[in-house]
Amino acid sequence: VVQKDEMEFQAETRQLLDIVTHSLYTDREVFLRELVSNASDALEKLRHLRAAGGVGGGDGVKDGDDDDGGGGGVPLEIRIETDEAANTLTITDTGVGMTRAELVSNLGTIARSGSKAFVEEMKHKEIARDAGDYDPFGQGIIGKFGVGFYSGFMVADKVDVRSRSAGRIGEGGGGGGGDDGDSAVLWESTGTGRYTLSALSPDVRQDRGTSVVLHLKPELSQYSDESTVECILKKYSNFVGFPIYLNGNRVNTIEAIWLQDPKTVDEGKHSDFYKYVSHMYDEPLSTLHFRMDAPLDIKALMYIPSFHQEKYGMGRMDPGVSLYSRKVLVEPKSPDILPEWCRFIKGVVDSEDLPLSISREKPQDSALVGKMRKALTRKIISHLSTMMRKDTEKYKDEFYKEYSYFLKEGVCHDFDSQQALSKLLYFETSKGMAGELVSLDEYVSRCPPESKDIYYLFAPSRELALQSPYMEGFSKSKREVIFVYSAIDDFVMANLKTFEGRNLLSADRSEVDLPQSDGDDSDADKDGQAEKDDASPSGKSLSTAEAAKFCSWFQTTLSTKVSKCKTTNRLSSSPAVVTDNES
Ligand code: ADP
Ligand code: MG
Repeated sequence: VVQKDEMEFQAETRQLLDIVTHSLYTDREVFLRELVSNASDALEKLRHLRAAGGVGGGDGVKDGDDDDGGGGGVPLEIRIETDEAANTLTITDTGVGMTRAELVSNLGTIARSGSKAFVEEMKHKEIARDAGDYDPFGQGIIGKFGVGFYSGFMVADKVDVRSRSAGRIGEGGGGGGGDDGDSAVLWESTGTGRYTLSALSPDVRQDRGTSVVLHLKPELSQYSDESTVECILKKYSNFVGFPIYLNGNRVNTIEAIWLQDPKTVDEGKHSDFYKYVSHMYDEPLSTLHFRMDAPLDIKALMYIPSFHQEKYGMGRMDPGVSLYSRKVLVEPKSPDILPEWCRFIKGVVDSEDLPLSISREKPQDSALVGKMRKALTRKIISHLSTMMRKDTEKYKDEFYKEYSYFLKEGVCHDFDSQQALSKLLYFETSKGMAGELVSLDEYVSRCPPESKDIYYLFAPSRELALQSPYMEGFSKSKREVIFVYSAIDDFVMANLKTFEGRNLLSADRSEVDLPQSDGDDSDADKDGQAEKDDASPSGKSLSTAEAAKFCSWFQTTLSTKVSKCKTTNRLSSSPAVVTDNES
C-alpha cells in the first residue's frame, strides 16, 4: 500500500487557482503553452547544469551530451501523449525533474517561483554565466509569477505530476547521495484546496524528468484529440528549442535560429526560416538579425520581403513579427512591438525579460513592450539608413521602390521616428534629371549657406512642375526645389513641416519670397514685398502707391474669393499666381 501524504496549498495558491480556473486566461488553450514552456525550462535548466559542471552536491549528471539519445542517456526532449479513451493529455520532459521537497515548494506555493529561486541559487554559486555564448538561463528564466503550471486546471479536473529529479538519480553511474534517494514522486491534485504526495509506484516508468498528466474535464475532450493538440503545438511551440513529439511524431521542425549567433546563420537557413515565418515563397530582400541586452534583452530576426502585398489591392497587411519569450510564443503577429508602418517586416522577436505570465495576455499594457518597440524601431531605421549609405543602388532600386509608401506613412503617423524616417526619403528636384533621386540631406548640403528653408512643389508631373509659374522665382534665383507628384508626398511634406531645423515650404505658399538671384539679399525678409517692388530691375514695376491701389481693386473685385492680394518679385514672365494662405 502506497502511503499518500495529504498537503494543503498555500492560501495564495488557493486563491490563484480559483482565478486561473475561472477567469485568468481568455484563451483556454494556452495551458499547453504553459506546460510546454515549463518542460522546456526544465530541459534548459538541465542543460545549463551540465554546462556548469554538475548537479547539486553530487556528480550524478555528467557533462556528456546525450541529446542524440546515445551513450545510454535519456535525450533532452518533450513528449506529449493523447489518450482519447481515458480523456487525458500527458506532457513529459526529460529535464531536471523535481524532488519531493521541490514539488512541495514549486507546485504548492506561489509566493516564490521555483524558477526565480533557481536563478538566485545559481547566482549564489556564481556559475550562471560561464556556460558559453548564449546562456538563456543565466540571464533569467521565464516567469516571475509562477502562474503557469496552474493553468492546467483550466482544462483538467485532476492533475498528476510524476517527477524524478536529475540530481538524485545518478544516471551517470555516480550514485545519488540526495536525501530523497532516487525515488520518483507522484503529486496529485484536483485543484481545490489540497494535493497529495506519494512515492511513485515502481511499475510506472519514470525517467529523469517530469510528466504532467491532465485528466481532462469531460466537456473539454478536444484536448485529448491528437489533431487539436497538434494545431495548438504548431501555433505556440514550434520554435521550442527541444524536440517535441506528439504520440511519437516530431511536431516542431524549425530550430530557433533567431537565438543563434547571427554570424553562424547562413543564407540557406535564413531562406527557409523566412519562408516559414512569412508564409511567402520569395527570398528576403534584406535580413536584420541582432541581439541587444540594453535597455532590455532582445534577440530579433526580421526580414524585409522582396515585395509587399498591399499594392495588389489585397487590403492592409497584418503585422508580421511575432513575440516570443525564450522560444515560447507570447503573441503571434504582435501589433505592439513595432509601429504600424513596419507591418511589411516579417520575423521573430524574443525577449527573456518578458515574463511568461498574466501580462502576456495584454502585452500592449506593458512598459517593457513600449521600451522594446522603441529599441526595435531604432534598429530598423538604422538598418535602412545603413543600406541607403552602403548599398545605395539596392536601397533605391529594390527597397525604396517597393516600400517608400510605408516610410511615408511612418513620417505622418509615427511622431517619435518622424525625423529619422524623413532622412530615408528620396525626391526628384528641379536641378536633377527625371528619375534622379535626392535625399533631404543631399538637398540641404547643396543649399546656399544663407538659405534657411527647403522648398517643394506639388505638381502632377515633372514637365508641369518645371513650367509652373511658382517655379519662376526659384529658377531665377537658381534655388533647388523638390518636386512631389502625389498627394501622399504633398501630405508627407505638410506633416513633416521641418527638417533639421529648416522649414519645409511649399512653393505655392505666400510666405515664400526669393531674392532676384543667388547672392542677392537674404530671402528671410518675408514682409514688405510690396515696398521692395520698386527695386525691380525691369523698370516696369508699379510704384508703391500704384501697387496698393491695384491690390485694393483686385481684392474688392474678387471679394470673398481671396483673403489677400499683394505684389511680389518672385515672378518674371507670369503676370500673377495664386498662392496658398499661410494658415
Ligand atoms: P514558472 O514557470 O513561471 O516558474 P510555473 O507555475 O509554470 O511557474 O511553475 C512553477 C515551478 O514549478 C517552476 O518554476 C518549476 O520550478 C516547477 N516546474 C513546473 N513544471 C516543471 C517541470 N516540467 N519540470 C521541472 N520543474 C517544473
Ligand atoms: Mg512556467
